[in-house]
Amino acid sequence: MVMLVDSNKLARFSNLKLAISTKRFGNLSFQHFYLNEEDTKQNRSQFFSALKIKANQVVNIALGHTARIFWVQKKDGGKGALNKSSLISFYDGLITVEKNLFLMITIADCFPVFYFDSQKECIGLTHSGWRGILACINRRMVADFKKRVKSNPKDILVYIGPGIQRCHFEVEKDVFNQFHSAFGEKIAFEKNNYFWVDLSEAIKVQLIESGIKEENIEQSAYCTYCEEKLFSSYRRDKKNYIAQGAIIGLID
Ligand SMILES: [Zn+2]
Repeated sequence: MVMLVDSNKLARFSNLKLAISTKRFGNLSFQHFYLNEEDTKQNRSQFFSALKIKANQVVNIALGHTARIFWVQKKDGGKGALNKSSLISFYDGLITVEKNLFLMITIADCFPVFYFDSQKECIGLTHSGWRGILACINRRMVADFKKRVKSNPKDILVYIGPGIQRCHFEVEKDVFNQFHSAFGEKIAFEKNNYFWVDLSEAIKVQLIESGIKEENIEQSAYCTYCEEKLFSSYRRDKKNYIAQGAIIGLID
């Protein structure tokens, strides 16, 4: 398998294209600390052609574990697609109403969170790791939908993609404490004398608090750490990790 999306609600829109690469495409991040930029460029070209999209339609951001969201306009097409120097930095979310542009982030345990409001024809994508979640990036995304296109949160569908799930996200005490005070013991819990956090569920809680209907939220069943054949995991693979790509776009 080279690409997957275990979403039903978003996948049923024929004008919406979304994809997550599996590790067969190789590393897709330009921010990798030692992998070669030329290899990333080639891997990305193959990923884009498998999706039947052009590099000048893709918009990619340099990630910073922030809660900043970039409003994508037509002129941004191609930025960050095939070279590191044109990445838009530093942001961890993208939102647009432009058709035929494809929002892209990279992931290797952090969650890609996909947004679609079919009434306003607006799409969004966040890179949600523990820092971004504590900084409330997904609440900010919902706020941006309201501010930019006057979305009613009840119309927004959200798919929380594959990431490191509760079976594998062990954390230090200080991170545990922050999640425990923000979300309580269902999301930050102790097991076998270690501390664990359920990031996907934390994202879901913040979405519901932002007005998204529970039945409009889908959560991927895939754990990047468990699914060694499909995904690279930063936690599991350590310095040998590679980053997968996540893409969403609205087509005419
Ligand atoms: Zn797992």
